[in-house]
Parts: sequence; C-alpha cells; structure tokens
Amino acid sequence: TQAQLVQAEKMASLGILTAGVAHEINNPINFVSANVEPLKRDIDDMLQVLAGYENTVKKYTLSEEFKEVENLKKELDFEVLIREINDLLKGIKEGASRTSEIVKGLRNFSRLDENEMKPVQVNEGIESTLLVLSNQLKNKIIVHKEYGKLENLVGYPGKLNQVFMNIISNACQAIPEKGEIYIKTFMDKREVVIRITDTGIGMTEEVKKRIFEPFFTTKKVGAGTGLGLFIAYGIIKDHNGKVFVESTPGKGTTFTIRLPVNA
Ligand code: ADP
Repeated sequence: TQAQLVQAEKMASLGILTAGVAHEINNPINFVSANVEPLKRDIDDMLQVLAGYENTVKKYTLSEEFKEVENLKKELDFEVLIREINDLLKGIKEGASRTSEIVKGLRNFSRLDENEMKPVQVNEGIESTLLVLSNQLKNKIIVHKEYGKLENLVGYPGKLNQVFMNIISNACQAIPEKGEIYIKTFMDKREVVIRITDTGIGMTEEVKKRIFEPFFTTKKVGAGTGLGLFIAYGIIKDHNGKVFVESTPGKGTTFTIRLPVNA
C-alpha cells in the first residue's frame, strides 16, 4: 500500500539521516566544548583571586578596619555561586564530550555518506557489528568466529559495516528460538571472502530469487522494510564485489561476500 511504501522510504533515508544528524550534532557540540573550556579557565582564575582576597580578609580581621572588612566579605559571598557555576560547567563539558564520543561512534560505524576510500579492517568491522548486535545475540545465539589473515582491502569501512549489519541482523531474525551463526573470513585468490551462515528458518527458491529487490520483505508490517539487502547489494557492487546466497528451508542460510583487494 501507499502507506507502507512511504514507511519503507522513510526507513531508507534513515541511514543517510543518521549520518547527517551525526555530522550536524558534532559541530555544535564541539562548539560547546570549545566555549566551556576557556570559561572554566576564567572561573578558575577568579577563584584563585578570591582565595587571595580571603587571605587578605583574614589578616584585616585582626586589625582595626574590621567593619570595612565585614562589608567586603559580604560582597565576596558570590564565591559560593561561582563554585556552583564551576561544577555546572564541568557537568556540561562532560556531557558534551560523552555525546561527542557517541556521535563519533555513530559516524564511524555506518558512514553511508563517506566518499573517501580507505584501508578496511574487515575483521574489526565484523567485531564492532557484533558488539552493536550483542543485545539480539545473547542467550539466544552462539556465534562462531574464524577470522583469517586478510590482505589490505581499500574501500568504504562504514558502508561495509552496514553490509555486515544488515546480513547478520537478518541472520539473528531468522533464528526463532536458539541457534548458531558461523562467521568466517579468508583470502581466496585476490578476494576477501566473508561467509555468514545461520541455522535459521531458511528461504524457499521464490523468496531467495527476490531478496535483493528493494522493498521485498517477508517480515510483518513494521518489522521489515525490504531495504537491508538491497542497500547491502549496492554497497558490495560499489566495491566491485559479489554476493552469493545458499539457503535451505528449515535448515539455514549462507551469505558469501567476495571483495577484490585491488578494486
Ligand atoms: P528485511 O529484513 O527488512 O525484510 P532485507 O532486504 O534485509 O529486508 O531482507 C529481505 C528478505 O530476505 C527478508 O524479509 C527475508 O525473507 C529474507 N532473508 C534475508 N536474510 C535471511 C536469512 N538469513 N534467513 C532467512 N531469510 C532471510
């Protein structure tokens, strides 16, 4: 229906949106951090000056100009206020840098906006994907990993993380109760090969034929967008790679991704 299509399109832009939002948030947060730092320094300076006054005040208390000193002291009561502001600023700074860290993580994880090729650490990318998915995995799925020594692949690390994410989260969702996921990486000729096998529900031939089509999904409304594998396919193509699927209903599915190192 029209409504479903709109929803799916919304989800498609979600990845791009995430990258955009992460970028947009990062700038003001860096600005906050940059402003808080000198402000805090100013306040520290003021506190030091105040401490100096305090010493002078103590000296005067013993002298005749006592009354004058009492007035001075009252004025100096804003010391408490400054201390409070100081603590607040510290809190703001901590909050800002923590948010900044989260944003950095987001940007690095799935950079659908990245257009600069870089060396890709495939094994590390899979590891951080599993970390993101750890909530879906625990108690339900045993993950077997066999990472091979891989040659230097040049590509888009964030986009490839998105590929691993889409395929591994599909594998999780294909496992109804308990099951296993096998992840293996190795070199074959001059290709990095990533093989992801699950012991899930598998697919019929009809489903298998259509999985890379945009908006094709067998999941219930709201659960699937039918865009995960479509996006993954595009990213693999961008790397001059190939993707193969083997599946047996009731037994499980294997995705094999092959990425040439000299693309
Ligand atoms: P979505 O996950 O939103 O449905 P995808 O493009 O990621 O969209 O997947 C399309 C369809 O492919 C899924 O709805 C499902 O039927 C099938 N599929 C993908 N991966 C698996 C898998 N590991 N096991 C069984 N079916 C799968």
